[in-house]
Amino acid sequence: MAKQNYIVILGGRESGVGAAILAKKQGLRVFVSDYEKIPDEWKKQLINNEINFEEGQHTLTEILKATEIIRSPGIPDKSKVIQEIREKNIPIIGEIEFAGRYSKAKMICVTGSNGKTTTVKWIYHILKKAGKDVALKGNVGASLSAAIAERDREYFVVELSSFQLEDMHKFRAHIAILLNITPDHLDRYGYKIENYIKAKFRIIRNQTSADYFIYNTDDTIILKELKKLKSKKMKLIPFSVKKKLNKGGFVDNTNLIFNLNPKQNFIMPLTTLALDGIHNRYNALASGLTSLVQGIGNPEIKEALMDFENVEHRLEPVCKVHGIEFINDSKATNVDSVWYALECTPRNIIWIAGGVDKGNDYSILTNLVSKKVKALVCLGIDNRPIHDAFSKFVSVMVNTVSMEEAVKMAYHLSDKGDTVLLSPACSSFDLFENFEDRGRQFKTAVRQL
Ligand code: ADP
Repeated sequence: MAKQNYIVILGGRESGVGAAILAKKQGLRVFVSDYEKIPDEWKKQLINNEINFEEGQHTLTEILKATEIIRSPGIPDKSKVIQEIREKNIPIIGEIEFAGRYSKAKMICVTGSNGKTTTVKWIYHILKKAGKDVALKGNVGASLSAAIAERDREYFVVELSSFQLEDMHKFRAHIAILLNITPDHLDRYGYKIENYIKAKFRIIRNQTSADYFIYNTDDTIILKELKKLKSKKMKLIPFSVKKKLNKGGFVDNTNLIFNLNPKQNFIMPLTTLALDGIHNRYNALASGLTSLVQGIGNPEIKEALMDFENVEHRLEPVCKVHGIEFINDSKATNVDSVWYALECTPRNIIWIAGGVDKGNDYSILTNLVSKKVKALVCLGIDNRPIHDAFSKFVSVMVNTVSMEEAVKMAYHLSDKGDTVLLSPACSSFDLFENFEDRGRQFKTAVRQL
């Protein structure tokens, strides 16, 4: 007799509980195990759906009975429980892989080191405005599994981190978008960028000739990896802000140009784009091309590229205090995103940076920092890496250990016309719960000045 399917889910939060609900709905036997306490909001959902679970422990004897494991992207390979599971050769998949089995929707998937959230929201905005039946899932908002358990859609726009991609095997992205690849999370990849690149490229696994790969052709890492690929069945659509393309999306002096086929081509002045900065031109090109290949009309795309609203904590203008502009870019948790922030902020920047350094190489910032940064307010428990990288380039550097102190210090160091930019280049877990908490504390402190 075939062994009855038994799904064990590691992690009892957003993605784990979503997967459990979908599994239960599909009539599968399911058990959720979380090494920590499960927050009440999720526990309630497990109880309401009559799903077995444990918290505060991983009972290996139970877990190893599974025919398949779904793990939360937060649980690394080196953890004891994953090693035990691998030893027993029990397949491990991610929540997205699992969800994909039960949907007929077109999957629009976005990955990259930076710009994922902005781009998925922008694509969602365009499709929604065009009247499509679409939901936004993945790393932002509710899980894909929970959404599918509720109701399948025509489209899902899914944000995928490299961690999620690692546990995807048969999932097929109808449109895969790769925004950029720059060193990030290298701590999890044994400090090897090749492993990180491989994880990102898993987004095009299983694509067929009916599918699209929309990618940043200015990114040398992406180009190099693409050349290595033997079979490329999917349709390739490049975008660039640096060169003209015969086919794709690009920037030409003052316009965004969409050049896919003569019937659909259109031009948009850069000044009309909803979001500023070179990085957002990439995001706009990727979003526009995605919508074009889905047959959305030019007027709808244009309008949605113009009236999209900025996402919180991404170069978010907070307010002006005595002529000093405050910008919250708390989501800038790596060096590359800070490069774009410094690039599009006018000179005389009081830069607030620091936190948990993930093995950053700050060298790409030194040129911009020496030109534009007037003072650097370090905000973190260990600020040595920032001092080592920038003390030669910035004359004023101060250490702070709370957001309130950092904001007051930045205000004190600035003059009318300057910009105070929180763009940390590091993750937030030394002093804050997460980047949202860091951004909110920044905004509160600014408003109290
Ligand atoms: P992600 O979801 O990939 O972390 P976000 O859209 O949340 O990306 O943006 C994260 C940070 O990166 C923000 O500071 C933002 O200003 C910056 N950013 C946004 N888009 C890009 C891009 N295409 N390239 C580089 N940096 C970007």
